[in-house]
Amino acid sequence: MNILFAASELSPYAKTGGLGDVSAALPAALRARGHSVSVVLPYYRSARQLLENVTATDLSITVPMGAVPHTARIHTAVTDRGVRLYLVEKEEYYDRSNLYGTATGDYSDNASRFIFFSKVVVELGKYIRPVPQILHLNDWQTGLVPAIVRAQRLPYRTVFTIHNLAFQGSFWAFDFDLTNLPGEYFSPPGVEFYGRLNLMKAGINLAHQVTTVSPRYSREIQTLEFGCGLDGVLRENAHKLSGIMNGADYTKWNPATDEYLAQNFSTRALAGKEACKKALLSAFKLPAGDGPVLGMVSRLANQKGFDLVTSLMDELIAQDVRVIILGSGDSFYEDYFREFARKHPGKVGIKIAFSETLAHEIVAGSDFLLMPSVFEPCGLTQLYAMANGTPPIVHETGGLADSVENYNEHTGQGTGFKFAPYETNALRKAVQRALAVYADKPKLEALRLAAMSKRFSWDGAAAGYERVYEKAMTP
Ligand code: ADP
Repeated sequence: MNILFAASELSPYAKTGGLGDVSAALPAALRARGHSVSVVLPYYRSARQLLENVTATDLSITVPMGAVPHTARIHTAVTDRGVRLYLVEKEEYYDRSNLYGTATGDYSDNASRFIFFSKVVVELGKYIRPVPQILHLNDWQTGLVPAIVRAQRLPYRTVFTIHNLAFQGSFWAFDFDLTNLPGEYFSPPGVEFYGRLNLMKAGINLAHQVTTVSPRYSREIQTLEFGCGLDGVLRENAHKLSGIMNGADYTKWNPATDEYLAQNFSTRALAGKEACKKALLSAFKLPAGDGPVLGMVSRLANQKGFDLVTSLMDELIAQDVRVIILGSGDSFYEDYFREFARKHPGKVGIKIAFSETLAHEIVAGSDFLLMPSVFEPCGLTQLYAMANGTPPIVHETGGLADSVENYNEHTGQGTGFKFAPYETNALRKAVQRALAVYADKPKLEALRLAAMSKRFSWDGAAAGYERVYEKAMTP
C-alpha cells in the first residue's frame, strides 16, 4: 500500500513524548513489510538543527487560511531509518524553540499552525508519487485532514490514531473560519464540540478508521472516567475504533548493545546491570549501597501519577530505598522534587531535563521503574524498562495493563507489579511486593530475565495497522 503518515513529532528530530517514537518506528516497520511510506512533519527549528542532507524542492504549496493565502515550501530528507520525509517549511509557524508552547502555556496560534499543517498534508498528497491511498493521521494536530478529504471528495482513505485523548486541540468557534470548510461541518457530527472547534473530535468523527495505541485504552476511552468528555463520540464511532499496542524499538533499547550504558548486559550475562546501577548512582551523586533504586523517566504531569508518588516519598526514603527521577513539565512537581532532594541528600536524585542519555542510564541502572500513571494510552517507558530487566511498578490501566504481567508470588511468573485502584495504599502495597522480591536474589533474577524476554515488536504492530488500512479501503 502507499501510505502518507502525518504527525507533529518525529524522534529524534522533534519529540516531546511517545508520539515521536511511534512516528519514527511505525513507518519504518511498514516499509520493511513492503509498503511505500512517507512521513510529513512541520519543519521545526529542532529538525533544522538535527537533520542532515535536507534538500529544498521546487514545490511550494499555497492554501487559504480564511481569506488569507499562506504558502509553505516543501523540503525532503531521509530519516535515520531510511524513510522518505517531507518537511513543511513555514518559519513564522515552526521556527520556534518548542513544538507546542513554553512553560507559560501553549502558543496562542496553535490553531493556525496545525490547521495550516493539515491543509498542506492534503495538498502534498496530490504531488507525491506513488499517489498515497492511505493518509495516516496522528492526534489533533492532524485531526482536520479527514474533514478536508471528505469536503473535497478526495479519493484518499483516512486512518486517525489517538495517542492521548487528553490533548484535543479545542479552540474557540471563530477559528473555524481558518478551516475554510463548508458551514455545515461546524456541527456535532462534524468538528464542533460544545460550541468550540475540536480537532480531536473532527478526526474521530470523519476518519474512515480510528485507532488508539492499546486495546485496553480503546475500551477505556469509551467510558466517562477515561473519555475526557469525548466518550459519547467514541461510543458512537466504536464500529470503526480499534486498539493496537505500540512496539518498542529494540535497536535503541537493547542493553546488550546500548552505547549509553556503562556496561552492556543481556539475559545470558546480567552482571553488567550492577555496573549500570553503580554508574547511575554516581551520576546522581548518590552513595553506592545495597538497597534498591526506584527510577522514573517521565513528563512531570498529573497524568503520570505524581500525586501518588509525592504522597509516598517520605515513606520510601525512610527505608533503604533511593529514588531517581528524570523529567520536566509541571513547575509544581519540578519545585517539589528539587526541594525534596535538597532536604534529603543521598536519598533522592532529581534531574529536571530532557536527556536521552540519562533516560537510558535510569532505565537500565534502576532496580524497578515507577510508572503509576492515572491513565496511559500505551506507555513506552515500561516496555524499555522490561527490556532492560527493570520490572515496572504500574497502575493497572491502558497500555500498562496490557503490557505488564503482574508478578505472581506463588508461581514466580510475571514481568512487573500492577496495582489498582488508583490510590496511595495500592501503590504502597505494589512497592512492598517489589521490595520483597528484591530481597530474594534468585527470585529477583528470574523476574528480571522474564521481563527481558518479553517482546513488543513493531512488526506485529505494523501487521495490525495493515489490517486497519485494509478496512479503511473497503468502502
Ligand atoms: P508520553 O508520550 O505520555 O510522554 P510514553 O511513555 O508513551 O509517555 O513516552 C515517553 C517517551 O519520552 C519515552 O521514550 C521516554 O523515554 C521519553 N521521555 C520522557 N521524559 C523524558 C525525559 N525527561 N528525558 C528523556 N526522555 C524522556
